[in-house]
Amino acid sequence: MTRYTAKSLPVQRGPAAWNAILGPQTPRSVLEDNQSADFVVVGAGFAGLTAARRITQLEPEARVVVIESGRVAEGAAGRNSGFMIDLPHDLASDDYAGSGDDHKMIGLNRQAIDFARAAVDEYQIDPNYFDQVGKVNGAASEAAEAHNKSYAQHLVSLGEDSQTLDREQMHELTGSRHYISGLFTPGTVMLQPAGYIRGLARGLAGQGVRIFENSSVTGFARDGEGWLVQASKGTVTTSKLVLTVNGHLESFGIERDRLLQLFLFAVMTPELGREELTRLGGQPRWAVTPSDPMGTTMRRIDSSQGGNRIVTRTCATLRPGMVATQADLKRAACVMQRKFDQRFPKLAGIQMEYQWAGHLCLSLNGVSVTREIDAGVYSGCVQNGLGTARGTLTGIAAAELACGHNSPISQHFSTEAQPKRLPPQPFQKIGANAVLRWKEWKARRD
Ligand SMILES: Cc1cc2nc3c(=O)[nH]c(=O)nc-3n(C[C@H](O)[C@H](O)[C@H](O)COP(=O)(O)OP(=O)(O)OC[C@H]3O[C@@H](n4cnc5c(N)ncnc54)[C@H](O)[C@@H]3O)c2cc1C
Repeated sequence: MTRYTAKSLPVQRGPAAWNAILGPQTPRSVLEDNQSADFVVVGAGFAGLTAARRITQLEPEARVVVIESGRVAEGAAGRNSGFMIDLPHDLASDDYAGSGDDHKMIGLNRQAIDFARAAVDEYQIDPNYFDQVGKVNGAASEAAEAHNKSYAQHLVSLGEDSQTLDREQMHELTGSRHYISGLFTPGTVMLQPAGYIRGLARGLAGQGVRIFENSSVTGFARDGEGWLVQASKGTVTTSKLVLTVNGHLESFGIERDRLLQLFLFAVMTPELGREELTRLGGQPRWAVTPSDPMGTTMRRIDSSQGGNRIVTRTCATLRPGMVATQADLKRAACVMQRKFDQRFPKLAGIQMEYQWAGHLCLSLNGVSVTREIDAGVYSGCVQNGLGTARGTLTGIAAAELACGHNSPISQHFSTEAQPKRLPPQPFQKIGANAVLRWKEWKARRD
């Protein structure tokens, strides 16, 4: 009998701050009995909840179950920086310019944004959680400025708008004198990621999708024509299974030694008081990605998004075992405090309220894994660090494959190459972490 067993389950390090700042959410049931469904979706992140929504669109009568290991919005979905980016954003490049068909990728990313916007409208998700304000690539060094210039030229060649901000405009925006210039692009949507994900889950539940939390899927096995999905305390029999577990695809023995299991880190200030906000200056909301992909992302949010706070994100560590250590988080938190203090000397030393790690998954050749893994088992995984948009797309594609529906989205993702094989251990871990530290050092100003 064909059986897939999970060798490891998600382990979170630190709180999902975006979720924490929204206050408590009503707990959902744990899967504790034996149920049946037409579709089971494993993982309630961007890909999983999108897949569930797409299934309900294509097959409104279908019985859909979503099974999540933790709580909704407590995984990477509540731990990211919330940039839903329309343009090429190749994290492996020096300046984000893509190496593939950028026109096609932009078109797909914008379809992801449209899909998310339609969900926001239909499920009446707070528009503050889905804010189409664009973003700025901040430059703090001449090298970073050169990255921005080359990226701007690339955008011109694609017929895309961008606008250069000078030192003063960057100061007016952020209140920081750290940046010497910036490149604004208008199409990025800034999410309150946990707010958006909670809203998706609430909307789906309202449409009859059964969502189980704190229910890890420990394996699945062929059961006649369908599959028996085993969770920690219950089971579901189903004819179609959709795996949207990002890097944990490898835990089920799929694409073994082909996926880079990476952790990123972030910190968030406490709610800033009136006096601190006056010292800070700048606009109440802004979002700055570094011009060098290995630099530091900064974001300011306001009271309608969970408080007047600043979020700092930097550092990356490869952890093939899919668990970030306390030492990883401690090191990253120290680096981020330093980055924050450099940018905001008037607020230097402020104690961060939240520090956390989040799991993401990349392939060496930048492809996702969206295909039929086994008869009736589909995956929408491996988002290459861009899961708000890419996860939405692979979720759509996996659902469409499961429903036998063809579209340019499912066509694109299901025909991608297989992830390239990684170098063997320990060379992979040592080599990748050495490269990451070197890139981090190179981007130290940014
Ligand atoms: C600090 C940080 C900043 C980031 N910033 C951005 C950004 O600005 N923009 C962007 O696009 N991306 C960003 N990312 C990446 C983004 O968060 C991910 O790419 C995205 O969350 C992937 O979506 P997903 O649905 O594929 O996977 P996930 O969000 O990881 O969801 C998978 C879900 O599956 C669940 N799961 C796994 N195994 C099991 C199991 N056995 N049983 C049941 N459930 C299981 C997990 O608990 C998880 O909730 C960032 C990530 C981090 C960590």
